Amino acid sequence: METLKPQDYGLTELPTEPSAVPGCAACLPLAVARQNARSSGDYSAVSDVNVELRKHHAAAHTS
Ligand SMILES: [Zn+2]
Repeated sequence: METLKPQDYGLTELPTEPSAVPGCAACLPLAVARQNARSSGDYSAVSDVNVELRKHHAAAHTS
């Protein structure tokens, strides 16, 4: 499995990874799961979490 290099994300665009919103009980476990996945080198799990986090952001953190 290939790991994504930083240039694959497109540096001119917004950061691909959504960040956890401080104080949000739904963001926190996703951010923790992403961190765990990354620390074990499971980048497909990282991107799964990012999809979930992005979905959650769209549902809960749009203004
Ligand atoms: Zn949230």
